[in-house]
Amino acid sequence: MSVEYFSTRTKGEGISASKAILKGLSDDGGLFVPSYIPRFEKTLDEMTNMSYKELAYEIMHLYLSDFTEEELKDCIDKAYDEKFDTDVIAPLVSADGAYYLELFHGSTIAFKDMALSILPHLLTTSARKNNIKNEIVILTATSGDTGKAALAGFADVPGTRIIVFYPKNGVSSIQERQMVTQKGSNVSVVGIKGNFDDAQTGVKQMFNDRELASELSDAGFQFSSANSINIGRLVPQIVYYVYAYLTLLREQKIGNGDLINVVVPTGNFGNILAAFYAKNMGLPIDRLICASNENKVLFDFFTTGEYDRNREFKLTSSPSMDILISSNLERLIYFTAGNDPVKNASLMKELADTGRYSVDDDMKKVMSSFIGGYATEEDTAREIHELYERTGYVIDTHTAVASNVYRRYRQETGDDKVTVIASTASPYKFTGSVIKAIDPSVSGADDFELSDMLSKLSNVPVPDAVSMLKDAPVLHDIVCDKTQMKDTVKSLLGIE
Ligand SMILES: *Cc1c(COP(=O)(O)O)cnc(C)c1O
Repeated sequence: MSVEYFSTRTKGEGISASKAILKGLSDDGGLFVPSYIPRFEKTLDEMTNMSYKELAYEIMHLYLSDFTEEELKDCIDKAYDEKFDTDVIAPLVSADGAYYLELFHGSTIAFKDMALSILPHLLTTSARKNNIKNEIVILTATSGDTGKAALAGFADVPGTRIIVFYPKNGVSSIQERQMVTQKGSNVSVVGIKGNFDDAQTGVKQMFNDRELASELSDAGFQFSSANSINIGRLVPQIVYYVYAYLTLLREQKIGNGDLINVVVPTGNFGNILAAFYAKNMGLPIDRLICASNENKVLFDFFTTGEYDRNREFKLTSSPSMDILISSNLERLIYFTAGNDPVKNASLMKELADTGRYSVDDDMKKVMSSFIGGYATEEDTAREIHELYERTGYVIDTHTAVASNVYRRYRQETGDDKVTVIASTASPYKFTGSVIKAIDPSVSGADDFELSDMLSKLSNVPVPDAVSMLKDAPVLHDIVCDKTQMKDTVKSLLGIE
């Protein structure tokens, strides 16, 4: 039986991968999940010497069962090319007793590029396969990095439009500049007066709005999503965990079958869920360490079994993790409930009604490989500073959250298994916070002066993605209230 996709909220007919990618979110508000998690077809030994692209095919074809070999290989070829500044795509860097898996070598210098450089191709292929004539409108809520990566991926892709909503005061200045300077005749960028959760909730509401769907359809449009709720985002993210393991194997840092730990700086729970899928496919991963910043809902969840979003939302120096409703957690809940949509739906209803829910002991057992940790703003800055002092290696604020959580986990438990830390953004994306952590005496410099300073400190040249921004004109300046998102979309699409 090949993999099909089901909603996390209702028992229904399975649909093909291409249909799930096109729809993004299920009509009942649930997320699409595979009918089962496939096992690797090849042994680790057989995969050891594969290139990133070969491995991507090896993993992804197991999930995207209705894509032909030619279709999928074509998508992979178009995605993992010169847009990445290294042939290995996802390099593994050893520093201070851990391995940092650098996922930021794509065009927008954050890990979102790993999936968003392929999603537009998966989506347009899916549209072709299903004879879709409508123009596809990608609606995206961003905490900073998804937006730019999606804009870059979809800009001028025929048959698509993209509209990105970001929290006007909730992203770094480089992140904002990256988005508002985006070129392309099919792109729109909108700042909202609200936070990321508001943006994500507004987007989900539009997806579930039947009336809006029919108005769109009359005008020749249909929505899809570039957020990590789209299964086409999740599947490509599994690849780099396998690739990291194989790199360690190839470099003889581990033996075949040795267990490793993985640490992931987490927001919407997409990246770490991909690691969990990799583990369930047969990758020897022991602990999945879920690192949060001061918005530590997930730490509390893994510690107590209660998810509770009723708390103050904090703006931190790791804005891409400033999230209180981690959408992809629903896929884990569904899995740990034994793929039971009824049980999951009732917990999600509690979440919507009361802002909280608890999982039972059986479910807790199934998720026992997850460990939660969190880092305060002070921990995060200190981590950047100390790692730099000890090794000269510079990490960004998100990676620093994970790095700090790992360091304390290792001290507290004595677990010294080989560990891979997902390094999710280039330090050049959060230059202000990074420089301040390394040298608190710096003040008054602009983003570009800071980038030059960072280049001197780290011996890493300023990435083009940053230097290009200096003279790029601002092309988008729409700001709307969080209650006006739907009207804004209609007016952008010319629907009255
Ligand atoms: C999106 C993002 C995260 C969080 O990833 P999730 O998949 O949402 O958990 C962490 N770090 C950076 C830099 C990001 O852009």
